[in-house]
Amino acid sequence: MRELPAETDVLIIGAGPAGSIAASILAEEGFRVTAVEKQWFPRHVIGESLLPRCNQLLHEAGLLEAVERRGYMPKHAALFVMEGRRERFPFANSLSGDWASSFQVPRDDFDQTLASAARAKGVDLRHGVELTGLSFEEGAAIAAWKSDDGEGSLRARFVLDCSGPARVLPRLLGLDMPADILARSAVYTHVEGDLRPEGAEAGDIWIVVHPGGAWFWIIPFSNGRTSVGVVAEDAFFDTHAGDDTEKLWAILRSEADTAARLRGAVQVQPTRRLRGWTTATSRLCGPGWAVAGNAGDFLDPVFSSGVMFALESGSRAARLATRQMKGEPVDWQRDYEKPMQDAVAVFKGFVLAWYRGDLSKLFFSPVKLENTIRSICSILGGNVFNQDNLFVSKGPDAAIESMLWGLRMLEAGKTAR
Ligand code: FAD
Repeated sequence: MRELPAETDVLIIGAGPAGSIAASILAEEGFRVTAVEKQWFPRHVIGESLLPRCNQLLHEAGLLEAVERRGYMPKHAALFVMEGRRERFPFANSLSGDWASSFQVPRDDFDQTLASAARAKGVDLRHGVELTGLSFEEGAAIAAWKSDDGEGSLRARFVLDCSGPARVLPRLLGLDMPADILARSAVYTHVEGDLRPEGAEAGDIWIVVHPGGAWFWIIPFSNGRTSVGVVAEDAFFDTHAGDDTEKLWAILRSEADTAARLRGAVQVQPTRRLRGWTTATSRLCGPGWAVAGNAGDFLDPVFSSGVMFALESGSRAARLATRQMKGEPVDWQRDYEKPMQDAVAVFKGFVLAWYRGDLSKLFFSPVKLENTIRSICSILGGNVFNQDNLFVSKGPDAAIESMLWGLRMLEAGKTAR
């Protein structure tokens, strides 16, 4: 391995979506950017369904073309399936100004694509290098690293932690907060031969409600493979016999729409299990450092918001770090921590309402109100910043409550007539 420099302007820890987008933006601004990534790519990581907001952020960072060249499956809508009923939320129905489509991406390929594009923009990206320690002195960060070839230290003007669930900085600085969303597990794999819808609906994500308290994802790729996964509390998996593969298939086949879609499907990857992914961090920034992506907060996979938050926080942090290193005053709390925490709070309200069952009442209501549908489509598309959206301006709990109340009134009115 080429020797790591002793000094850099920005050190980025981790080359997932948060790290690659941040590194690209900073390198384009002319800074020396060193990104250390402990794994060799391609590597396995979950999180395959993107939101339209991701496309917008990739476009703004000059990375969308590289992604488009990969020919990923276009995703135009989220389809919810419950007790034989289907509700499709096309992103084209979002509030005006939102992007109308995204992609379903095998993450090993997607992350490698972004990392290569970042390198092409001048990022000094080193695989097989793990950050092991960090201290701050005289306005600089001193990072300790190790690799198979040895170990050393590196001095940086700014450090951005994009280390995902490893959460390097929150752990080193003691910023972990208790997660207040119930711990669940996901059991998942890839299959070939699923019977997808035709045309523009082929790339929809299916989110299927299982009556026993689980939900499934079905995410079709353009390479003929489909990602399938079950999310539930451990107790639900325990009620099914066998190993995780047997449990997975027994559960998938016990829901009629899923069973029909997967009746000829063949498993082409090992079954994997993940547990307890919710994380929360008390601070996202401090003098000379910031935390982006999953290294900060991660809620739950149900609305596929993880990569969007990684790209959003990575871009915002990179733009603020740029201004700071150019000598401008930057209010990190106001311009980074607060908007990111507010955005997470909107999705958190959605996630909690989903598990309470309130959102499915809204999604499957026989009464369709245009503004409600457009607001839902916008949130499902990842735009949690638009103050014209009631879920954002009123807050998700108050908005959901008043929408459900309105729907009850309308339904009661119809029944009375
Ligand atoms: P990561 O992609 O995790 O990248 C972090 C990188 O940092 C890794 O490559 C790691 O090797 C590196 N690293 C860690 N420690 C060090 C160190 N000390 N030194 C150097 N490098 C280091 N999101 C979606 O958008 N859509 C989905 O459909 C979706 N489904 C999901 C399903 C499940 C079950 C779960 C749990 C999550 C899902 N997510 C989904 C969330 C998604 O996986 C993450 O939000 C996303 O990968 C976060 O990106 P990131 O860049 O923050 O971190």
